Amino acid sequence: MKKILLVALGVVFGVVLVVVALGVYRFDVTDDDIFVEQSDGSVVPYADINSDGQRAAAIAPGSTQQPAQAAQDEGYVIETEVEGPEDCTPVEQYDAARKVCFVECDTPAACDAVEAQIDAALEALDADYQTFSKDFTEFDGDAADLERDAEVIYAVREGEQFVVVSGKEQPRDATITKWLAAISPDAFADRFLNRLIIVRTMADDAAAFVMPSANTPQKWDMYVNAASLREDGEKEMVFTLIHEFAHILTLNNTQLYDASPAECKTYFTGEGCLHSNAYLSAFYQRFWKGRFDVETADPEDLYAQQPDAFVTPYAASNPGEDIAESFAAFVLRKQPAHANTLAEQKLQFFFDYPELRELRTSIRSALAPFVRKRIVR
Ligand SMILES: [Zn+2]
Repeated sequence: MKKILLVALGVVFGVVLVVVALGVYRFDVTDDDIFVEQSDGSVVPYADINSDGQRAAAIAPGSTQQPAQAAQDEGYVIETEVEGPEDCTPVEQYDAARKVCFVECDTPAACDAVEAQIDAALEALDADYQTFSKDFTEFDGDAADLERDAEVIYAVREGEQFVVVSGKEQPRDATITKWLAAISPDAFADRFLNRLIIVRTMADDAAAFVMPSANTPQKWDMYVNAASLREDGEKEMVFTLIHEFAHILTLNNTQLYDASPAECKTYFTGEGCLHSNAYLSAFYQRFWKGRFDVETADPEDLYAQQPDAFVTPYAASNPGEDIAESFAAFVLRKQPAHANTLAEQKLQFFFDYPELRELRTSIRSALAPFVRKRIVR
């Protein structure tokens, strides 16, 4: 999902390399110098970037090669890969040939302002979820009943293609598949997603849930309640899908193995016993073991007593829900400047895994077109 675009801008400008920074590609154009902005905001010469897009050598802050101090003939273009012109904001133009929305800006500060709007919109998603999550529930009943009443069932085929295998797709279902595809990298979907089942209703107004597929238990089925995708519930749906994705990320068969609760020395999730280096195992050791009693604690009491310890009320349910909620907040919130509270430490927990930082960038990048549509409304 990491996008590195090579764009030929003709004889004058030469070749410009564009690297992801929250779905915003910034490049400054000078005759000879090519700079690349890293996802952490620092700028390094193209020559210092290896083929994986990683920085090979750091450039000291204040280096004369910073673009802000470059020659006056530089220009900036912020662009975002999209599916069509409807994903562009009114301030942007659409380039049909390259399928990007773009806007030109004269100064780094002007570009930063646009990026700040995207950041703010992502955080607004999370703020909405704070309210929504007070009522957030996941389904805890008979999946077979739900399946009989499903609106549409998709098989998730190679390349994250959603193929209708029964029922009839509604326009709103396409919205859900679009978001899920944006959140879940293709390789992850190929490996772990079996089916997406969209139902019209769930008991207790539950939003969604995931479970291992009956006949291919190494893959997962995701059940989503379309009724929770109300007119004003689109943002909540995005958070819900990231939450469900996080369950598969932390409970798949690379993370745990078959064992009885009595045999399990790490943490027994219900699906199995976690490997000691599993994400949820580390999360449990650090944030739950010896602190909260999973068996007896009442989630509402836990949250009421220590609201700073959880990113949402629902996160206090148990370690599995805590890591799913915390992962969604990790994707949508800014990295905390200080990890003082337990909730902040839970976000920092994910930042300490390079592959999860990369995943975060890719999800934020993929969500940016949806988010940006809402910035200027
Ligand atoms: Zn959950």
